[in-house]
Amino acid sequence: MHDRSCQPLLTYTPTPVQEIREPLFDKAGVRVLVKREDLNHPYVSGNKWWKLKYNLDEAKKSGHNTLLTFGGAYSNHIYATAGAASESGFNSIGIIRGEETQPLNPTLTFAKEKGMQLHYVSRTQYRNKTETEFTENLKQQFGDFYRIPEGGTNELAVKGVTEFAQTLHDGFDYLCCAVGTGGTLAGLISGLPKTKQTLGFSVLKGGEFLHTEVQKFLHDDYGNWSLITSYHHGGYAKTTHELLRFITEFGNRHNLPLDQVYTGKLMWGVMEEIKNGCFQKGSTILILHTGGLQGRSANINMTDINNCLF
Ligand SMILES: *Cc1c(COP(=O)(O)O)cnc(C)c1O
Repeated sequence: MHDRSCQPLLTYTPTPVQEIREPLFDKAGVRVLVKREDLNHPYVSGNKWWKLKYNLDEAKKSGHNTLLTFGGAYSNHIYATAGAASESGFNSIGIIRGEETQPLNPTLTFAKEKGMQLHYVSRTQYRNKTETEFTENLKQQFGDFYRIPEGGTNELAVKGVTEFAQTLHDGFDYLCCAVGTGGTLAGLISGLPKTKQTLGFSVLKGGEFLHTEVQKFLHDDYGNWSLITSYHHGGYAKTTHELLRFITEFGNRHNLPLDQVYTGKLMWGVMEEIKNGCFQKGSTILILHTGGLQGRSANINMTDINNCLF
């Protein structure tokens, strides 16, 4: 008989590698490839698929019916968790930072459509979300749940990304990715051969602290990675006209959709590093597209336009 419990909880579509060409790359003597992991699932996209994989398994194994997690109003993680929960038969609760605004934005509209129960908390409460008292209140209010941290980063998330890294075919020297909490970067470092260099591009201002965050999830000494912190464009979810223009032009030129929170900053950073001669001549750079394109909807929101740095 077929054992249902061995079925993966989420569907997965294998993803292509896309080569992009620019005169700059020839000048610098590098080849640039993009792993289009954004195409792995219609809405649990990119790294979020891999970060959720073993968390869903664990939630099921430990007999939970409900996932609970945290995020801002445009969070890719909220969006992915809502989608993943509905596909794999869990209830879901999203603890959302800040006040409810109507009409709901596209991210929260999607989450709600997928059955996620949205619960808004003030920014102060949100900051205290890991405290025992806050958790106890949540338990009283919602009953038993499987908790996934903000951004989805925990040991099981890193395990999933490690598995992803092990599926990558050889044929590259550097792997570049965007860094939010560092869980994805930690998984990539853990799963790749030590002969590769892994470069994480922080999308946060003051991202130096992420070095320690990444280290917490590494179980070996790796000298083959670095964190690049100078391409944040003003900070997390902040943007500039220059960045938006770059995303549009680069995207059109290469038929490659990018977002302004993660992959746009990553691609900008990689281009700058190539210009600066930071990659060895003759090498191949693999850029990881971690998905999250739903987050582009934040661009049309007034508060985000006000966040632009002119
Ligand atoms: C969440 C996210 C990241 C950041 O991943 P971390 O594991 O938090 O560092 C990068 N890219 C995209 C598109 C994301 O949605």
